[in-house]
Amino acid sequence: NLDCLPSLQLATELESALNDGALKGHYQPIIDIQTGNLVSVEMLSRWIDGPSGTISPSVFIEAAEKSGLIMPLTLWCLHCGLRESSQWQKVPENVSLAINFSTLVLTDPHLPEVIHSALSLWGLPASRLTVEVTESAIMSDPERCLETLNWLSDQGVKVAIDDFGTGYSSLSYLKQLPVDIIKIDQSFVTNMLHNVPDRNIVQSVIDLARNFGLIVVAEGVEDLHTYDELVDMGCTRIQGYCVSKPMSSEDLEQWCENPQWRKTQNRVKDKASNF
Ligand code: C2E
Ligand code: MG
Ligand code: MG
Repeated sequence: NLDCLPSLQLATELESALNDGALKGHYQPIIDIQTGNLVSVEMLSRWIDGPSGTISPSVFIEAAEKSGLIMPLTLWCLHCGLRESSQWQKVPENVSLAINFSTLVLTDPHLPEVIHSALSLWGLPASRLTVEVTESAIMSDPERCLETLNWLSDQGVKVAIDDFGTGYSSLSYLKQLPVDIIKIDQSFVTNMLHNVPDRNIVQSVIDLARNFGLIVVAEGVEDLHTYDELVDMGCTRIQGYCVSKPMSSEDLEQWCENPQWRKTQNRVKDKASNF
């Protein structure tokens, strides 16, 4: 049982896992609601055969953050994600790779050179990379984060605010930061069909994004009723189990050959032809 593992021991095991190649990148599709096209994939790390089977990142990211392993882990993500992206044959070439960055990564002074060398090693343009950051990561050191995010944006890297609505949701940073994408937290999306306040929050974030000229992604969309409702509400992108769960690089390639999400694509077209 993981709860019994002292965090120091977990960190030590994670360090070995990083060195032994026991981490794997999984990729979850993000699709454009209008065209049904795959536009981005979010990389979500998986620790295969950890101390208790496959361990979810919600457990080991915290251990990585506390033990100084978050930068090595993010470095691993960048290289693994960009290497696999550069080798994809069936994933469309313009599909962007989204990677999660925590505070300690955003404020690391070596970040620019780390990103620059990873992109040039794998021969990909900065426009193929999206960085996902949370509101709380930004608020923990707004000045440093502003500097880093401006640098990333100047290079052509896209910036997404993850789990939007759960943090401080300070609107002033939307004015100052070079944000391209807002991701509505799944906690609001999950119950939006049955919970009026949740639905109101989702609609408000969609409207906010539209007014700022930003792309808006609904996270955690599990069923097609929610999908349809999000189309009507003006959402631009969808991520969730109703499109696909996160999958290995090999499975993503197969999925692109025989894309399940075409079902939903036809759905959008059917809806459009009803008007
Ligand atoms: P996140 O960035 O908000 O990622 C979305 C999470 O929602 C993922 O959980 C994904 O598997 C899950 N999800 C996607 N669609 C659905 C759905 O339809 N229903 C439900 N119930 N869940 C859905 P996961 O992979 O367990 O990751 C949890 C969090 O851990 C991520 O949240 C992210 O903040 C963090 N994380 C994952 N990989 C990394 C990493 O390599 N580096 C860093 N710094 N953080 C990571
Ligand atoms: Mg994310
Ligand atoms: Mg999220």
